[in-house]
Parts: sequence; structure tokens; C-alpha cells
Amino acid sequence: MDEWKYKIIDWFKNGTIDLFIGYEEGTRNPRPSFAASFEDAEKLVFDKRCSGNLAVYLTRKDLVEGKKVGLAASYYALKSISQLFDENQLKEGNFRVIGHLEDGSVKPFLSIEEIKQHLKETPPPAKQEDDELIREIEAMTASERWEFWTDELSKCFKCYACRSACPMCYCTKCIVEVNQPQWIQPWASVLSNMEWQINRVMHLAGRCSDCGSCGAACPLGIPVHLLTHEMHERVKEYFGESGEKGNVLSTFKPEDRENFIS
Ligand code: SF4
Ligand code: SF4
Repeated sequence: MDEWKYKIIDWFKNGTIDLFIGYEEGTRNPRPSFAASFEDAEKLVFDKRCSGNLAVYLTRKDLVEGKKVGLAASYYALKSISQLFDENQLKEGNFRVIGHLEDGSVKPFLSIEEIKQHLKETPPPAKQEDDELIREIEAMTASERWEFWTDELSKCFKCYACRSACPMCYCTKCIVEVNQPQWIQPWASVLSNMEWQINRVMHLAGRCSDCGSCGAACPLGIPVHLLTHEMHERVKEYFGESGEKGNVLSTFKPEDRENFIS
């Protein structure tokens, strides 16, 4: 048995956790697994095929409320955990993490400080396919870019899988489900699909962990994660890494200009 599973078994046995969220073998690929005892922990797996961001489950109240939770985390899940902690969605001491690092090693994290330190010292994993598409999009003129995104978003049929896959989309009522007032038309059309994605990206400004799960979840292959990626880059450029000086959407200085609302 893999060494890291002994750690999870220990945590179950000494009462440190009562739920561990990881992966188990599925029909074709590994699927999320919710181990409720040390016996369940034996069937856990983790390898390159486990590319989702399991931090998405940490805010699912029906699953984790009142529980001490352990999680299998890749680099990006660690980023999401750090951000969720900064947003007061996680409490220190209530969760444990088994980090599966890019070099294939495994590291248990016992505190948020350890996670933040690791993120500071570790560059993000390379994403070759995304980088190529980003280069292609950046080489376009503004009108070509507009055409590219209009074309991509015209395919969207508002299934909201991109929202469900995102660890940072944890509002109990999403703007797309509010109908008094109706902010965004519920049916799919190019305009309302644009409105939906613009809202999603704005809401994630400075909060996105750049994990790519939203794009991977889209059944139509729309690369919506590149929109949040671009916002992530712009926020980093203007305001620094999220969490360093507060979150960009909830932090202000008294002298900030307000001319955009006058
Ligand atoms: S890349 Fe997508 S899924 Fe991941 S945190 Fe950002 S918006 Fe959410
Ligand atoms: S997952 Fe794709 S199709 Fe579904 S709402 Fe998001 S962008 Fe649209």
C-alpha cells in the first residue's frame, strides 16, 4: 500500500478526520471518492489522471458541515484552499491535506501556513496546451478576439458545469438564478451567454486559482478557464498575488477614486 494512505488511516484512527476526499478507480478514469473510514481509505488512488480540483467539495455544506475533512490536493487545489481560507470558508484545524506534488512526491500539510509557504516557494505547473492557445489569442486583433469569443460562447447552452466545477463558486444563490430583478436571461443566446461569462469572470477577479477546472468541465469544450486566467493575470499585474494585500473585490482605500459611479 502507498505510504501516504497510512497517514490517512492514522488520521481516521486518531480522530483527526472523519471524512477524506480523494480519488478511487472509476469505470474509465479515477472518480472522486468520499472515504468515511480507514477501511475506505485503502481504495484511494492518486496519479496524473486525477486532474480535477477536489477543493470544490470543501464548501459543500451537505457533505462537510460538522466534519473534520481530509483532502487529496494538487498544486491548484492547494491554491484554492489558501484562497478559501482567506475568505473565511475554512477553519484552521478542521481540515488536513495530502498534497500530491508535481515531482510525484507526497506531502501532508497540517496547517494553512505550511500550504501558503509551499505555494510561495513553488512555481505553478506548466500548462503547454493552454499556453499555446493563449499565444494564439494574444496574437489576434481586438476584432478577431471578439469574433473568437462570440463564436465560442455562442455554443454555450447554460448547463453551469463550469460553475459547479469551481471551488470558488460557493454562493448559496447565484446571480443566474435570481429573477427579481432578472440580471441575466436564463435562456442561451450569444448576448446572455456573454453576460453570464462576464459576470462569472468579474466575480472571480482576484479569487481564481487558475486550476482550469471550469474549462475542463465544459461539455462543449469552450475554454472559459482562459477568461478567468486572463483576469487572474491582470489582477496579479495591478494588485499583486491574491491575499497579499487583501482580496481585490473586497478591499478598498478611502482615497480610491469613485468616478466610475458618478
Ligand atoms: S480556473 Fe475556473 S474552476 Fe478554477 S478557480 Fe478559476 S474560475 Fe474556478
Ligand atoms: S460549462 Fe460550458 S456550456 Fe455549460 S454554462 Fe459553462 S460555458 Fe456554458
